[in-house]
Amino acid sequence: MTDERDYLFQNYVRAPLAFTHGRGARLYDAAGREYLDFIGGIATSCLGHAHPRLVAAIADQAGRYIHVSNLFRIPEQERAARLLVEASRATAHGRKLGLDRVFFCNSGTEANEAAIKIARKRGSTSGRHEIIVTHKSFHGRTLGSLAATGNPRYHQGFGPLPEGFVFVDYNDLAAAHAAVNDKTCAVLVEPVLGESGVIPADPEYLRGLEALCRERDLLLLLDEVQTGVARTGSMFAFHHYGVQPDVVTLAKGLANGLPMGALLAGERAAPGFVPGDHGSTFGGNPVAAAAAAAVVEAIDDELLEHVSSRGAELVAGLAPLPGVRLVRGRGLLLGVELDRPAGAVVDACRERGLLVLSAGPDVLRLTPPLVVTAAEVEQALAVIGEVLSA
Ligand SMILES: *Cc1c(COP(=O)(O)O)cnc(C)c1O
Repeated sequence: MTDERDYLFQNYVRAPLAFTHGRGARLYDAAGREYLDFIGGIATSCLGHAHPRLVAAIADQAGRYIHVSNLFRIPEQERAARLLVEASRATAHGRKLGLDRVFFCNSGTEANEAAIKIARKRGSTSGRHEIIVTHKSFHGRTLGSLAATGNPRYHQGFGPLPEGFVFVDYNDLAAAHAAVNDKTCAVLVEPVLGESGVIPADPEYLRGLEALCRERDLLLLLDEVQTGVARTGSMFAFHHYGVQPDVVTLAKGLANGLPMGALLAGERAAPGFVPGDHGSTFGGNPVAAAAAAAVVEAIDDELLEHVSSRGAELVAGLAPLPGVRLVRGRGLLLGVELDRPAGAVVDACRERGLLVLSAGPDVLRLTPPLVVTAAEVEQALAVIGEVLSA
């Protein structure tokens, strides 16, 4: 094998490890060593590795045609959109929630770019372009989403960034109120701060943001790139909160690891784009769309229940371990705040055959495939317990 440093940009810090195949929540390397995968491709794996129905859906579409462009109707894309819209509808906290229309792209950052553009387009008729965003947020790496991201480290060296993003503290409703002015067109937030340590929004915060948006005619844009597609134990995090967003962005789990992003919009936002306003060559690609349809179809009440149960087992098993200060999150998006640096714990777990991720200097992030079994949860807890006790 060539050296990893020979030809690739050195923008990632990679573990010295490659896999040959996987099954469910397990991965295997060339030496035949088995790993329990609690990273799940960074929260992208819903159905696990080599899920037979997903593999068949992808192979079937690839064998017919891979791409024709959005100049034509794409039945798989229409099907994926219908399934997503249907899955967005729910009654929660006594309210009927849901979204109406889908735009497909290829990643989370692109979905957020589309959300920013739709909000600006709608605001342009009344001279409004500012979007309220939060410190510690992560919305992506392209310039618009990067400008909306509340982590100065990621901005360094890339200025000037697009203007018009106003930063306030997360979970601070009063700050959001104070930031609204006659130039504001939208609020963009994550229901759970994923990259910054898995910090969930307070229910009053998100409901208060919805009320603020109604009152001031702003769009509520929810970045569910990490929380969407059943990751938290409901199809979308906004179902948990009983909040009706105008726009929801998705990506990570949507096509089980094939590149795909989506923007779902309700009636206040959907008319925002007219032909020619926005587009993507690959967006809603037939193979990715077939995968997304298979994923969304596989998410039923039983799987949602499964995600909540496995998540609860993890929380109960993690909380009493030595060195654990706090376990945060919901479903299978969990952050474990430690009394020590997370990096060494991640490495020690990997040496013992368990793949986990960090989210900030002292937080472990657990995002296993949604199909992870109770026995695998126990096995992971045993490894983490061993590492933290060592
Ligand atoms: C991962 C992530 C993104 C960026 O998604 P990419 O597909 O890497 O562009 C945006 N927002 C949130 C909340 C994320 O977790």
